[in-house]
Amino acid sequence: MCLHQNPSHFEENKEEITHSNLVWNDYRETIRGMVFFDPHVHMTSRTTDDYQAMADAGIVALIEPAFWLGQPRTGVATFKDYFASLVGWERFRSSQFGIKHYCTIGLNSREANNEALAEQVMEILPLYVYKEGVVGVGEIGFDDQTPAEEKYYRAQLELAKEAGLPVQVHTPHRDKKQGTERSMAIALEHGLDPGMVIIDHNNEETVHSVLDQGFWAAFTIYPFTKMGNERMVEVVREYGPERIMVNSAADWGISDPLAVPKTAALMKMKGISDEAIRLVTYQNALDAFAQSGQITESDFEAVKNIDQSLKFNGNTILRGGQQPRIDKDSIFIR
Ligand SMILES: [Zn+2]
Repeated sequence: MCLHQNPSHFEENKEEITHSNLVWNDYRETIRGMVFFDPHVHMTSRTTDDYQAMADAGIVALIEPAFWLGQPRTGVATFKDYFASLVGWERFRSSQFGIKHYCTIGLNSREANNEALAEQVMEILPLYVYKEGVVGVGEIGFDDQTPAEEKYYRAQLELAKEAGLPVQVHTPHRDKKQGTERSMAIALEHGLDPGMVIIDHNNEETVHSVLDQGFWAAFTIYPFTKMGNERMVEVVREYGPERIMVNSAADWGISDPLAVPKTAALMKMKGISDEAIRLVTYQNALDAFAQSGQITESDFEAVKNIDQSLKFNGNTILRGGQQPRIDKDSIFIR
């Protein structure tokens, strides 16, 4: 996307072409033994194969933010069931693959625009945000940057403050820079400590200001639309690893639940230090969301002692083993 033709950037492009057919399976060995925390992934939309592949790649914990399901919900009851599944069935399903599952709970920005429904959702949110394993209010923020989105963003910032929880902020695809600035300004206006706010879906245009103002900067490695992982390597090279975290935001769209380990492998190949990789693919997310008081690192080990014959309300999963279809052969995510 970048049109600057400075020599160093030009060389970087040449290097990308040389490496364009790197195969993930050939490079996964380079990160063997490393552990990863994906702080934004919508597992409800993913398969057991994905869980297995994530566990095999070293993902030990994840956060599933409440989000938009792809079509508008018609009543508050479906929000209740969805939130209940995030703290119930999905957590159980994850545990069956040895991955510790946490979630954030919130009214997503798109559905904030249905005000009649949004009011009802706001009423039930306090029933879920205090539950065990809920590590934040999220993902909330702006989509189209409408007055209704702002109203419910503000209301949920207050809820997060009251609950003492971190906030996971979704920034808009359109007018991203302005939307990101607005999200941060409103959070500060409500008296939130920027250290309790994770600004998500950053890019090269937003990262400087986010870090400069003391917020956490999350980056989504998502094919075709958000960030590619080669660009991510350059961001870490330029800004260092402090307060930066990488996630997949894998969901029902064309996305990659292995985005975090693949990016770690690419960073390793490109000479980023092991310590910097550990910070941006594990420790920073842990530190940010552990402020909820809901994350204990030793639980990551405990959940590994899985017994797949366990049941949740009488139901069991007993599947898995295959690799995901999308991008399974490439270390690159574009
Ligand atoms: Zn999301």
